[in-house]
Amino acid sequence: MQRFLDEEHRMLRNAVREFVEKELMPEAKELDEKGEFPWDVFRKAAKLGYIGASLPEEYGGAGMDYLSEAIITEEFMRAGSPGAVVTATLGCIPVFYFGTQEQKEKYLPVVTSGKGVSGIAITEPNAGSDVAAIQTSAVKRDGKWVLNGSKEFITNGNIASWLVIAAKTDKTAQPAYKGISNFILEHPTEGFAASPISKMGMHCSPTASISLKDVEVPAENLLGAENMGFYQIAMFFNVSRVFTAAAALGLAQRCYELALDYAKQREAFGRPIAAFQEIQFKLANMWTEIQAARLLIWHTAKLIDMGQPDAAFSSAAKVYATEIANRVAYEAVQIHGGYGYSKEYDVERYYRDARMFTIVEGTSEIQRLILGRFLTGRLKF
Ligand SMILES: Cc1cc2nc3c(=O)[nH]c(=O)nc-3n(C[C@H](O)[C@H](O)[C@H](O)COP(=O)(O)OP(=O)(O)OC[C@H]3O[C@@H](n4cnc5c(N)ncnc54)[C@H](O)[C@@H]3O)c2cc1C
Repeated sequence: MQRFLDEEHRMLRNAVREFVEKELMPEAKELDEKGEFPWDVFRKAAKLGYIGASLPEEYGGAGMDYLSEAIITEEFMRAGSPGAVVTATLGCIPVFYFGTQEQKEKYLPVVTSGKGVSGIAITEPNAGSDVAAIQTSAVKRDGKWVLNGSKEFITNGNIASWLVIAAKTDKTAQPAYKGISNFILEHPTEGFAASPISKMGMHCSPTASISLKDVEVPAENLLGAENMGFYQIAMFFNVSRVFTAAAALGLAQRCYELALDYAKQREAFGRPIAAFQEIQFKLANMWTEIQAARLLIWHTAKLIDMGQPDAAFSSAAKVYATEIANRVAYEAVQIHGGYGYSKEYDVERYYRDARMFTIVEGTSEIQRLILGRFLTGRLKF
């Protein structure tokens, strides 16, 4: 696959791999056990331009293309959950696309400089897949917005310096999605509380429940136009799903490498298990699916670089890469036999990490629903 890339992207890939091998891989297992966001690595990565790489230099980014950021994301996630330092830019995507010059200058450099991380809070206890059903409200009072409600499963919710929060600004709007707006909320702000959620995997990537009680947001922190939040979220997903796909691909790639190494050195019936055709077929399928996912991701990133983001391709890349990551992780555990199920070997944590990816940023079912509507002409892109 290296051959598919030009010299610049090849060099980037090698440099990021070297950084991750040196700074993350040796500590990855321990970091995952501690379950903390790896701030040191995050700051070092930001210094090298790996955090928010596709953001313009005027906002502290590296001015790279989306293909570069997809490559960076994959390489970081080869380390498993500690690689999730790249999620620091989640809130940056909508701010970059829809923010004012002042908002971009104020909020994006916080993240690209490595000072703090961002997030985006859409999901609520009673509204996940159905974004239009969110109930958090934003009401204008004395020249400010006042937010009330709760959010669930928010990545970086308890550690972020700022978050983009989706809220209903018009509860009577029909259809309901036309009444959503997005706000930039700084942390700490009075009335805002976040508590971490304990979860199956991705332990270095904090996830939080958020409560908003009469939280005041300055009028200038509305993102873009009022009641245009749903469209902004749709655009956010066009971009973020490529990175989610790339993250899952990084896990898959590492699982394949670990499984291949193990198969060559583990012996059964007097031979390395890699000599058995059944094991070779597993490796063949894993490798093939990884190559296919990578091409789909790189193609989708290229479309964004060409100024033609494509929701169908973003959904296809997301559903395919996240599902193959689960299949590859499953087979990697299988190839490790009993050791795959023990915490001694890395594949166990990759298997748990992979499970998250078919759920976040729209479940697999929702990606297929989008694709189905697109293919049958019920959605235009
Ligand atoms: C670790 C983690 C991190 C997350 N980070 C964030 C974040 O940073 N910001 C954020 O806003 N959210 C975040 N989420 C939330 C995530 O996006 C939602 O969990 C996801 O969108 C699904 O919503 P839900 O959990 O409410 O499931 P539901 O919407 O209740 O769905 C339950 C099941 O029903 C299926 N289903 C629902 N509707 C349909 C349909 N129409 N057709 C077929 N099947 C359907 C779903 O696919 C799923 O299998 C995170 C979640 C996790 C687990």
